[in-house]
Amino acid sequence: MDGQWIRDLRAQMPKLQMEEQAPLSDYTSFRIGGPADCMVFPASEEEMASVLRFVRERELPWLLLGAGSNVLAPDEGLDGVVIQTKKEMQDLHAAADDPDAIVALCGVTLSRLSVFAAQRGLTGLEFAQGIPGTVGGGVVMNAGAYGGEMKDCAIQTWTLTAEGSQISYLGEEQGFRYRGSAISDDGNSVCAVRFRLRRGDPEQIQETMRDLAARRKEKQPLDLPSAGSTFKRPAGGYAAALIDQAGLKGLQVGGAAVSEKHAGFVVNLGGATAEDVKRLICLIQERVLELSGITLEPEVRILRGRENV
Ligand SMILES: Cc1cc2nc3c(=O)[nH]c(=O)nc-3n(C[C@H](O)[C@H](O)[C@H](O)COP(=O)(O)OP(=O)(O)OC[C@H]3O[C@@H](n4cnc5c(N)ncnc54)[C@H](O)[C@@H]3O)c2cc1C
Repeated sequence: MDGQWIRDLRAQMPKLQMEEQAPLSDYTSFRIGGPADCMVFPASEEEMASVLRFVRERELPWLLLGAGSNVLAPDEGLDGVVIQTKKEMQDLHAAADDPDAIVALCGVTLSRLSVFAAQRGLTGLEFAQGIPGTVGGGVVMNAGAYGGEMKDCAIQTWTLTAEGSQISYLGEEQGFRYRGSAISDDGNSVCAVRFRLRRGDPEQIQETMRDLAARRKEKQPLDLPSAGSTFKRPAGGYAAALIDQAGLKGLQVGGAAVSEKHAGFVVNLGGATAEDVKRLICLIQERVLELSGITLEPEVRILRGRENV
């Protein structure tokens, strides 16, 4: 793509942090992906809104990225603008009007958020500590673990539409469901979230967090790059159990493999490409379907590559 628009964006928003030809492998937990034409790192809702208005006026392709822990980025890279929130959208504070509420900007990591809550003796976010995403990615995906979900404690979400105008979702309007929300259905961008928690016993909160971290370490291949559970939980079963029963642990395509430790994770053994991962996902889906009649649906968001490749 002609790079004039990048010069125009720089001229219009001189304070906006930008990286041209930003390697997506550096910004995703899979460590896979070619360069994005331009990655921007807004530091405020206003900056995010200005970027959204710019991409709309220029009809540029764009994508939001938090910690990149639930995406598979294309080998050829991405056209247009990637708006990365994890680097700069970092404000996190106790709500002024409610001692049991916390307000976080979208780029705050779920781990930092849960530690912040625990330090204030607030219970309800212990489950989120080991999820390597951001508040924005966590809320749109309704991230969850060990019986907890964002839905249990996110009470208000402030978003921006593709035109850059503000829309807030209160309570039920957030439309949380298993790994989805009305916010992602509407295609809106999360700026900030208000969480309501409960007073708890600080020692018990710490103990629960230690216990969940130990369970993760024991069961999950945290030493290898991945995007967490590759597939959604199918009705009436668990993806990992179905993959294990199909004898697929260790199955490898190029540098991508079904984890030996947890069959629900596809891991990057080193040098895996997005094509390797996609081919492996197809193989797993075919074999599991043959054996159990169940179609596994990817939980990982597979990003579409460049239009002109
Ligand atoms: C080791 C490991 C363990 C994991 N364990 C869990 C787990 O226990 N439970 C679980 O649910 N997930 C788990 N995950 C997956 C992942 O961490 C979560 O889905 C997380 O919520 C994704 O957040 P993110 O910021 O990384 O989103 P990204 O991967 O950056 O983006 C995911 C999607 O959300 C969109 N998005 C990102 N930010 C915003 C925003 N501000 N507004 C609107 N849309 C946005 C993106 O465009 C994309 O479509 C795990 C992943 C790994 C690598």
